[in-house]
Amino acid sequence: MKYRSTRDTEGRLYSAPDAICAGIAPDGGLFVPEYFPRLRGETLTRLSKLDYAARAAEILGMYFDCFGSEQLGSACEAAYSPEVFSPCPAPISLLGETAVLELWHGPTCAFKDIALQIMPRLLTMSMRARGESRTAHIVTATSGDTGEAALEGFRDLPGTKITVFYPTDGVSRVQKLQMATQEGDNVDVVAIRGNFDDAQSAVKAIFADPEVREAAEKKGEFLSSANSINIARLVPQTVYYISAYLDLLAEGYLVPGEELDIAVPTGNFGDILAAYMAKRMGLPVGKMVCCSNRNRILTDFFETGVYDTRREFFTTTSPSMDILISSNLERLLYFAFGAEKTAECMRSLRETGVFSIDGDMLETLRADFSACSADEFATAYSIRDTFARYGYTADPHTAAALSYAVGKKCLAVSTASPFKFAPAVDAAIGANGRSMQALRERTGMEIPGPLAGLEKKKIRFTRVVDKADIKTAVYGLQ
Ligand SMILES: *Cc1c(COP(=O)(O)O)cnc(C)c1O
Repeated sequence: MKYRSTRDTEGRLYSAPDAICAGIAPDGGLFVPEYFPRLRGETLTRLSKLDYAARAAEILGMYFDCFGSEQLGSACEAAYSPEVFSPCPAPISLLGETAVLELWHGPTCAFKDIALQIMPRLLTMSMRARGESRTAHIVTATSGDTGEAALEGFRDLPGTKITVFYPTDGVSRVQKLQMATQEGDNVDVVAIRGNFDDAQSAVKAIFADPEVREAAEKKGEFLSSANSINIARLVPQTVYYISAYLDLLAEGYLVPGEELDIAVPTGNFGDILAAYMAKRMGLPVGKMVCCSNRNRILTDFFETGVYDTRREFFTTTSPSMDILISSNLERLLYFAFGAEKTAECMRSLRETGVFSIDGDMLETLRADFSACSADEFATAYSIRDTFARYGYTADPHTAAALSYAVGKKCLAVSTASPFKFAPAVDAAIGANGRSMQALRERTGMEIPGPLAGLEKKKIRFTRVVDKADIKTAVYGLQ
C-alpha cells in the first residue's frame, strides 16, 4: 500500500514509512492511502473471533503491509493490553436503542489514547524501516486531549522527543494539570497565548519553515507531528468502528449487512473521517452524523456547501471541538472529489478564509453525512437529560453526539470521561460542587485512576509564550 498527497494532481506515491515519518506531504497536503482495502465477509467473520488488539493488528496490516503481521501483532498487543485500557479499548453501553461506544478507558481518559498508544510505535517502526538514525522530534498543537495522549504515547520512547503546545484559552483545568505534571525525560510542554487555531497554525508554520528544518537537521533531529494529520493516527481509528460493528452483531443488536448510523462529536474531523474510511472499506455504515458544538462551521458546511472561517470563535465547555479549521476535512474533499478540487479549496481557504463546493458535490457528501450542532444550552441539556433518563453520565463532547442520538437506533461515539470535564458536567446534572469528587458523589461512578491522583502530582511545566515566539520555544530546547 502506498500513499499520496491530497493536493498532488500528479499522484506521486510515498511508502507508508515515508508518509508516517513526514506527517505532512511536501506540498502541504495530507497523506491518503492510494486505495481502500476491502473488508470481505470472510475477513469480518475471522475478525469477529479476535480480541481488540488482534483485530487492530489485522486492520493495520491492510494499510501498513510493509511491517509484517508479527511486528504489528506485538505492537498492538502492547498498545491495547488490559493494563493500558481497562477493561478494554472500546466497550459499548446501551441507552435504550442508542449504542454508546466509549473510547476513553485509556491512560488519559479521552479517545485520542486509542490512536496515540499505537502511533508512536508505528513511527519508530517506520524510522527503523527507513534506516533513520536521527531523533524524531514530535511537535504538536493541542486543544487539550491530544497533548496528554501524545505525551503519554511518546513518553520515554527511545529515538523520540516531544514538544506539546496548548492554547492558554480553552483547555480545561484537568487537562492543564495533566500536561503540566506529565512525566518522562523526553517531553516538553509550552502554553501559547491564544486559542487552538492560533496554536495549530503556528505549528503548521513551523513545519513549513526551512530555517526550522535546518535547525532540526543540525541537532540530528527531524520534525514530525502527532496531530491527526498523521496517517498513522487516522488508520488506527478505523479499527474501533469495525470492532464495534462486530460486537453489535455478536450481541444481536444488528443483523448481518444492516447499516449502522454513527454520530460523532467532531472537531478536527479525524474521528468521523475514520468512520467514513471504514465505510469505504465496505463496513455497512449508513449516515455519519457530524456533531459540533457552538462552533458550528462544519454543520454549516454540510448544510450549505460553504466552509467559512470568517466568523466568531467561541470558547465552550467542549474545548476539543473548539476548532475553525478542521484539518481532516481536506482528506474527505480528496476522497470525494480528487486532488485538483482539494488543492483549489485549500488555496481559497488560505487566501480568503473560505471555500465552497457546488450543489452536486454537496449532494454527494450528503449521501454519507448529515450534521448537527449543540450550543452550550443544548450540551448541558443533553447531559442532564441522558443522566435523568438512563442514569448515564456523558462529558460535554459526547453530549453533542447524544443530543442527536438519544432515542434513535445508532452508534454514538463517547470521546471523554465525564470526570475530565467535571465542572461542566456537575453544573448540568446539579452536583453539589465543581469537582471530580462532587461528580463522584452525585453519580456513584469511580474517578478513573489516571485522574484520581492528579492534584498530588508535581508541576513540571509552566512556560507561556506568544505565537510569534514558537520557533524559539521549539529550538530553545536542548
Ligand atoms: C479530539 C476530540 C474530539 C474531536 O475529534 P476529532 O477527531 O478532532 O474530530 C471530540 N471529543 C474529544 C473528547 C476529543 O478529545
